[in-house]
Amino acid sequence: MSSPRLEVDLRKIRHNTRTIVDSLKIRGICVTAVTKAACGHPAIARAMLDGGAAGLAEARLSNVKRLRQAGTTSPITLIRTPMLSQADDVVEVCDASYNTEISVISALAAAALRQKTVHDIVLMVEMGDRREGIMPQDLGDVARRVVDMPGVALKGIGANFACLSGIAPTAAKMQVLSALANDIEGQCGPFIETVSGGNSANLPWAFGACATGRINDLRIGEAILLGVDPVTGDQIGGMYRDAFTLVAEVIETDAKSVHPLVGNSDHTLAKIRLVPDISKITRIILAIGHQDTDAAGLSMPAGTTLIGATSDHLVIGTKNPTLRVGSEMRFNMNYSAVMRAMAAPDIQTNLRHDRGPPNAHDVDGPSKHLASV
Ligand SMILES: *Cc1c(COP(=O)(O)O)cnc(C)c1O
Repeated sequence: MSSPRLEVDLRKIRHNTRTIVDSLKIRGICVTAVTKAACGHPAIARAMLDGGAAGLAEARLSNVKRLRQAGTTSPITLIRTPMLSQADDVVEVCDASYNTEISVISALAAAALRQKTVHDIVLMVEMGDRREGIMPQDLGDVARRVVDMPGVALKGIGANFACLSGIAPTAAKMQVLSALANDIEGQCGPFIETVSGGNSANLPWAFGACATGRINDLRIGEAILLGVDPVTGDQIGGMYRDAFTLVAEVIETDAKSVHPLVGNSDHTLAKIRLVPDISKITRIILAIGHQDTDAAGLSMPAGTTLIGATSDHLVIGTKNPTLRVGSEMRFNMNYSAVMRAMAAPDIQTNLRHDRGPPNAHDVDGPSKHLASV
């Protein structure tokens, strides 16, 4: 098998998705699975749908197109505010998009009218993360303009937390979002179908005892892929943390740490050198670097430390004497390491436990999303 490679265990992704879907179902919340860290990889998206996700969400149109080209027919929502220049393509390949700018919504509406369709709009509300969002006091006004605009339909509202600011959502903020959904229905009329409370950082709130109110959707990426709470980095009970493994090959061992032989006849020194030094750290170099992943996001195996990385080299110190030129090393990864590796042209993706595309006789899981058209 060639390296460097990313081994992706789809069974673990199905399991992680199913665990979150089942825990949230009893709280009245659906899971929209976020594929952006996997660059819209069709088999990873399929594993999320097999695990019970209600639909998919992506940040980039290029990734949505990749999913569509692979035959994905499930609903896909664009969760990054669309670029004005991409309005036509957004309407063509996405069922809905998250929006904050009325000029963009107008362009989506015009594109939808041209394509004789209706594009669903979810309005993103700013609730403290200070990234994208409409200020709560302006939401009613924007919502009314969307409702009055032919070509688009107001599908819901959403909020996002812990991305730019790192601040996790609170029960109080979730109550405010619920109240905003009720207010908008009062002001504009239509039923607000989706109230999307946030991302993986919302899970501690969602698994907790607080009332979920109107929140009926969460957009989950990191927790499905890596089994962790992104705010604390803690493992979520019953989930796999190692669905992704990076494998890299050793290309040099120990060249710099070999002590130059001392031309010295002192036999006490010679004797000392004959005692094997089990604490000795060997420097080795692997054929992987910043261009392939986030080196700081790799977890080093026991007895191994990261010395440094450059664009194409990873230098580590290890006590493992069996590592030789040609040996492979395996690393668990954090979110930024996975995200970079998935996007890196030189990293091959190897799927484990791939069930392949669903067939028409499948009655559960993906068939309801991937029905032939
Ligand atoms: C990336 C993103 C998500 C998913 O976040 P995770 O932490 O991976 O669960 C959800 N919503 C928006 C708007 C995002 O940009």
